[in-house]
Parts: sequence; C-alpha cells; structure tokens
Amino acid sequence: MFVNDCLSVNDQGHLTIGGCDTLKLAEEFGTPLYVLDETTIRNTCRAYVNSFKKYYGGNGMPLYASKVLSCKELCRIANEENLGLDVVSGGEIYTAVQAGFPMEKVHFHGNNKTADEIRYALDVNIGKFVVDNLYELELLNRICEEKNKTANISFRIKPGVDAHTHNFIRTGQIDSKFGFALETGEAFEAVKKALTYDNVCLKELHCHIGSQIFDIDPFVTAAEIMLDFMGKIKDELGVVISELNLGGGFGIMYTKEDEPVPYEEYMEKVSVAVKAKAAEHNLPVPYIYIEPGRSVVGEAGITLYTVGGKKEIPDVRTYVSIDGGMTDNVRYALYQSAYTVVNADKADKEPDEIVTVAGKCCESGDLIQEHTKVASVEVGDTLAVLSTGAYNYSMASNYNRIPRPAMVMVKDGEARVIIKRESYEDLVKNDI
Ligand SMILES: *Cc1c(COP(=O)(O)O)cnc(C)c1O
Repeated sequence: MFVNDCLSVNDQGHLTIGGCDTLKLAEEFGTPLYVLDETTIRNTCRAYVNSFKKYYGGNGMPLYASKVLSCKELCRIANEENLGLDVVSGGEIYTAVQAGFPMEKVHFHGNNKTADEIRYALDVNIGKFVVDNLYELELLNRICEEKNKTANISFRIKPGVDAHTHNFIRTGQIDSKFGFALETGEAFEAVKKALTYDNVCLKELHCHIGSQIFDIDPFVTAAEIMLDFMGKIKDELGVVISELNLGGGFGIMYTKEDEPVPYEEYMEKVSVAVKAKAAEHNLPVPYIYIEPGRSVVGEAGITLYTVGGKKEIPDVRTYVSIDGGMTDNVRYALYQSAYTVVNADKADKEPDEIVTVAGKCCESGDLIQEHTKVASVEVGDTLAVLSTGAYNYSMASNYNRIPRPAMVMVKDGEARVIIKRESYEDLVKNDI
C-alpha cells in the first residue's frame, strides 16, 4: 500500500510506523515530529554488509554517509551493524567521537577542510582523509609534519560519469567543486605529488557520481574507469593502490513513480566489473568501500505535522498549512523534491483531494509539496510526509526562530526519543 515497508494502517484507519500509531506518537511527543523505524535501518545495513560477504568475500565495507542524518544514535547503530562512517565536518567528527564510534573506521570528506578540522581529525586518529585538492594535500602533509604523524589518504576523483539525476546533486563530471579531474591529467599529477610527500600515505581512490540514481550502468562505468586509472598508476608509477571507494548515490522511493534498483543487483554487477578489470590490469581485487547515505535511512523516516489551517482559493489551489515546513524539510524549496503525503487520520481512505502543503515560515516558497493528492484534509488532522529520514533533520534550520523538531525511533511498537525537541532557551543560548 505504501512505498515504505515499515508503514501500515491499523483498525482505526490510522497510519502506523514500526507498529506504532502515528496519531499516538503525535500526541505523546508533539508535532512536527521526525519518526524513524529502527528495523528498516538495521535491515538495510545488514543487506549491505551481507552483500560484501557474498560478492567480495568480505573484502570491503559500507560506510554510512553521516551527512544524511548525523546524530549519536545513528552512529551507534552504524557501528553495531559493522558499518564504517563518512564525515564531512568537525561537527560530524565530534558526533562520532561522542557516540564512541571507532575512529579508524571513519573517513573524512569535504572540499574545504579547515586547518582546525584537520588537526582535530588527526588528534582523534581518524582512519582516512579523502583529499579533495592540492592545497589540502599540502596543508595536511604540513600539519602531519608538525604533529609528527602520517595520515592515510584517499583521493576524490571525478570519473566524468554523467548519472541522470537532478542537476544540483550531480557531482561526477568535470564541472564539479569536488575532487580531481581524470581527463585533464590533474588526478594523475596529484598521485605523483602525494608519492613525494613523507607524511601522507596514499591508500585509496574514491569517486561519488551523484545521488538518487536509479541506473546500475553509471556505477559500473565509474568502477571500470577507476580501475583503469589504478592500472595506469601501477604501469607508469609502479604503485599498487589497494583500496577503492565507489561512493553512494543509490536511489530510494519517495513516490510510487520511483523505481530503485535492488542493492543486491547493484553489488553483484559492480563486483563483476571490478574483478574483470582487476584481472585485466593484473591488479589484486581492491578492498571496496561504498558510501550509502539516503538509502540507509531515507525510507525508514517520516515526518508528522498537525494541520492548522486551510485556504481554498477558487480556481487556483487549496493550501493546507502545517506546523513545520522548510525549517525541518527544505528539499522541496531547494530542489522541488517529490514526496508522498498521507493523511494519517484517514490512511485507509483513497486520496481524493488535491492540496498544496505549506509550511509556517515567512516565505512563499516554503512548501512541502504542491498539488498532491491526500484523503480530504480537515484542520486538526495529522499529515505524514514519507521518506524523510535522509537530508531532512540534517538540513534543518532555525529560520524564523523555529525550534528543530524532536526525533523518535520506533521499533516493534515501542518509541524512544533519540533527539530532543529544541526549546526556546536553546534558540538564544549563544545570543549575548
Ligand atoms: C552525499 C555523499 C554520499 C551519500 O550519498 P547518498 O546519495 O545519500 O547515498 C556518499 N559519499 C559522498 C562523498 C557524498 O558526498
């Protein structure tokens, strides 16, 4: 019935998640409310880990891209499920440290790591720096020298693969702020340079071709291009790089129009290509990393809102106003992202009313979805927006001084708070 496995409808016609009645969750914890289903998250993690066993003989590891939802509980779950972690800032490193995450399994990304962040990452013995550019390489080597340390590094490479997705979240081609271009020879020069530095050790190459991708082909092509590059490095420089990171980007279902590829199929096809190319270049099959983010938590999450008003503008549209908006889910305002909206009070009813769901911020563009079909909405109803586990809380803001919502984790009919709702006091705590 729903795109998300963790959702169902109970006898009263209410939407449920992880066995919990969403109306009861809204009443107990207030709205807006982020809700995550733990079983879905853990099952997804296990599917990734198991497919590494199946297709790479365990010679690889999924890294959870924590930018999609960074909080202590997610770090703990990723660790319990044997995933490593990607971080992109000092704040995400700090979150992992606070959660007791094993830092040797953490990879540090980003196109402008500051000197302070680099020092902090070295102090907590982070596993790997994914170096984005030559300034960073030089800076990292210099700071390592100061600290008398050696950093394990990876290079972020632009393989030039065009994955068909929204422009704003496309990162594989030459025109990207991320990484070294292959075609121009920039990446090869960077490898040569790294070999001359004493305090960095080049262990891995990395690529990430985009996000919300539904085809397997671009992933296969990117893997082949990366292995060809590893072959060139071996042939021309006599150096074998033994680890390859193929990034994230696996698409999920936001609406029934989305058709994600089963992860198994992706893992299998890519592993076949990796092994064939390794053999062709006479290279050992590299240790493989992938970096799923959205696909780990996206479909596991929903957001609950209370409808506070309704404006029917004849011959134009009907606005339904909710008690959250772009402050807790900016993705429609940012990239016109599609979402499924469900009237949680009437989840057993056919959607029969076309509405525009509007947030409460002082911005006309503060919309969650336009012209979407839901079961007739009345003031006081609880609306659920589905597949909000990724890039919602992590992109939330305090615009209009709206406190960020709480997040609860549900499992087998039980709910627990994993992130507290912000208070007004929290909002002014740094004001002088
Ligand atoms: C954003 C990002 C990811 C995660 O992408 P998803 O589409 O959420 O899976 C992985 N790796 C890198 C380098 C990223 O920037």
